[in-house]
Amino acid sequence: MQFLIRGGRVVDPAHGIDDKLDILTDGGKIVRLGKGLTADAAQVLDASGLIAAPGLVDMHVHLREPGFEAKETVATGCAAAARGGVTTLVAMPNTRPATDCPDIVKLVCGKAAPTGINVLPAGAVTVGQKGQQLTDFAALKTAGVPALTDDGVPIQNLALLRRAMQEAKALGLPLLDHCEDRDMVQNYAVNEGEVSKRLDLPGRPAIAEELQIMRDVMLAEDTGAYVHVCHISTAKGVDIVRQAKARGVHVTCETCPQYFTLTEEEVLRQGAMARVNPPLRTQADLEAIRAGLADGTIDAIVTDHAPHTAEEKAKLLPDAPSGMVGLETSLALALTGLYHTGLLPLRRVLALMTASPAALLGLDKGTLGEGRDADLVLFDPDREWVIDKEQFVSKGRNTPFHGRTVRGKVKYTISRGMIIYQEG
Ligand SMILES: [Zn+2]
Repeated sequence: MQFLIRGGRVVDPAHGIDDKLDILTDGGKIVRLGKGLTADAAQVLDASGLIAAPGLVDMHVHLREPGFEAKETVATGCAAAARGGVTTLVAMPNTRPATDCPDIVKLVCGKAAPTGINVLPAGAVTVGQKGQQLTDFAALKTAGVPALTDDGVPIQNLALLRRAMQEAKALGLPLLDHCEDRDMVQNYAVNEGEVSKRLDLPGRPAIAEELQIMRDVMLAEDTGAYVHVCHISTAKGVDIVRQAKARGVHVTCETCPQYFTLTEEEVLRQGAMARVNPPLRTQADLEAIRAGLADGTIDAIVTDHAPHTAEEKAKLLPDAPSGMVGLETSLALALTGLYHTGLLPLRRVLALMTASPAALLGLDKGTLGEGRDADLVLFDPDREWVIDKEQFVSKGRNTPFHGRTVRGKVKYTISRGMIIYQEG
């Protein structure tokens, strides 16, 4: 199957390309990139008025299968990814059973194969994510995991964490860490601050995140391991990473659209729908996140796509689970919040969602070029639309962005040369 994608503005941050070019794909690969291409046998896709970019790489997604199929399955999560322009994703291991051995890696990959999405399961750091016994990192690496993480249940035993870093370093695997001190945050629902005071609820303090980032930075420096801070949300957290990078520590970080778009005030309006870990923070934090994205301290935009059932999210704020879906809205929210506001050039926004996360994980993805996989997203950067959770193909409808007007709409998603999503 050949496709000739004609007349689009090709933006490929990895190669510094931003030009009106045609793209010819054949058998899952990009075979030519150039002006005025022709190919008699190819199906033509008219991309005039659209941006053609590498398929998005989302390195933080909860697909929930095995174990929590009422929230999401690999199939529905991958359909949501396709609708959002995401062609490669890292699936978090907090399933049941957890992805702590090669069998579960194989199971998730097997379920993902027919979807067309490149799903890379991350391996758990500890058996059952219980924080007690390290998994077999070498076996997980052989099974294909790109990284290790106990996301959601961060390791509190520092001797164990230090040994995990030493072993991960020896195998060249990054450690992705959800940075919040568990004793300080318990199962609290909101940021500690004005809103927690107003609601008379205990809060999750920013210091709980910052201490753990500092701890990880120091252990990374000590062991030489590569640590990646998940979903960074506080101003001081960004500053710690900025300073560590300047010292040459191998640390990177990611954030999510909710942290550069919403503040803790959203909890007053939307209750449990705005509950997420780490929690939505203050306006000053939001601005620091935006500054970190602009100056290169923050390396990737991810979703932390965390579907829950309607019943679960209908619980009262202190009892509802944390998390929000994001795969179907991340590109639009990033374009709306960062590009259309003039904060970041388009190329930089796309780099944060393609080439940069691919590079962090050592993946041969996130870029266009002859001979590369034909993973692409074609989108209209200016099209205004209203986010409607009823239109989601994810099982999860838990978004705080329902009803929000955004700019930037995915028209086609192509993975390994096949159209896996087409608008309408
Ligand atoms: Zn997390």
